[in-house]
Amino acid sequence: MFRKRRNIIVMKFGGTSVADADKIKKVADKAINKKLQNFDVVVVVSAMGDTTDELISLAHKITRNPLRREMDMLLSTGEQVSIALLAMAIQDKGYDCISLTGWQAGILTDDVYSNAKILSINKERILRELNNNKIVVVAGFQGVTAGDEITTLGRGGSDTTAVALAGALDAEYCEIYTDVDGVFSADPNVVPEARKISILSYEEMLELASSGAKVLHLRAVEFAKKNDVILHVRSSFNDIEGTWVMDTNKMEEKMETPLVTGVSYDTNQVKISVFGLEDKPGIAAKLFGEFAGANINVDLIVQNVGESGLADISLTIKEEDLALAEKVLERLKDKLKLERFEVDPGVAKVSIVGAGMQSHPGVAAKMFRCLGDQGINIEMISTSPIRISCVIREDKAKKAVKVLHSEFGLDKS
Ligand code: ASP
Ligand code: MG
Repeated sequence: MFRKRRNIIVMKFGGTSVADADKIKKVADKAINKKLQNFDVVVVVSAMGDTTDELISLAHKITRNPLRREMDMLLSTGEQVSIALLAMAIQDKGYDCISLTGWQAGILTDDVYSNAKILSINKERILRELNNNKIVVVAGFQGVTAGDEITTLGRGGSDTTAVALAGALDAEYCEIYTDVDGVFSADPNVVPEARKISILSYEEMLELASSGAKVLHLRAVEFAKKNDVILHVRSSFNDIEGTWVMDTNKMEEKMETPLVTGVSYDTNQVKISVFGLEDKPGIAAKLFGEFAGANINVDLIVQNVGESGLADISLTIKEEDLALAEKVLERLKDKLKLERFEVDPGVAKVSIVGAGMQSHPGVAAKMFRCLGDQGINIEMISTSPIRISCVIREDKAKKAVKVLHSEFGLDKS
């Protein structure tokens, strides 16, 4: 007979939280504590410390071009080590526990090696183990294809595993344990006055994550939003309450939404300017079609048409896509009859994010004035309903974050 189902909690621990034996024992304590609070506990772990990086460099000592299938076979071992050790640590403390690899946990993915997407989760096995009163430890970052091949979900993918499991298991919430106390109003290494944010909407978290804040994997937040999974981002080294990410419209007591919740920056940006394009329909489509075809994500875009009637387009991409982008542009020189292009890696993107700016005019003006007063030139601008981003010189990025943080009243008193 099945006993009555208790509420399920998914807890995810990143690489720094399981970096050595002592840390793994502490994670075991945290999982057991939740169990003692009468939850059914599923723990998702990453590989220990820098294991994934080390495995990648090991592979590259063998060959410059490892097959992606073998790469996933290799990288998935990192998480397999941590689940076994964590399960042992929990068992050693006298609690029932079982470790499961991605495929044992029923995580079915597509077959895009090294960047696979989760298609579905067969939760039967996990539920069976929970029903047997076990703490279940699942390997993050990995899954299996319909053809029984092992895949990985892309760097940082354990967050996605955890959120996907929380969604499939209808968990109360998903806790993401990391090496910081939560999501901050700015990177505390840059702005010592930064504050921990207590509650964020999914939209704000998505904008922060995509504009440079590194706490959460972007895909995990998208997944959480789509499946209404409540997230709690917190430190694995203390018991302080972290940041909750949820549908803030569903909250019983409405909070006052600040104009700006956070300031983020991203130096991993390259600006490409393309000069002398014909100003006629279809040209931009061709240009950006070629980028898309090469799988290059374009971030900001600005177009200018001068008196000559020719158009200049500037755009930004990630630094790792630069070599590929240059190839695409060389190819396009003839095809689009463009005069020339310029590449500028010395830029950064600074963004302010806040749900409150939707209903308040003047936020952009205030941001631009603040940057102007500091002699920081704005090269490109892009906006969403709850974000304003400016591309500036990279060496001014930290200063910009600091002044914006204080200008919008975010410094802790
Ligand atoms: N171990 C993998 C990585 O380093 C997955 C993760 O940590 O989330 O990317
Ligand atoms: Mg840069």
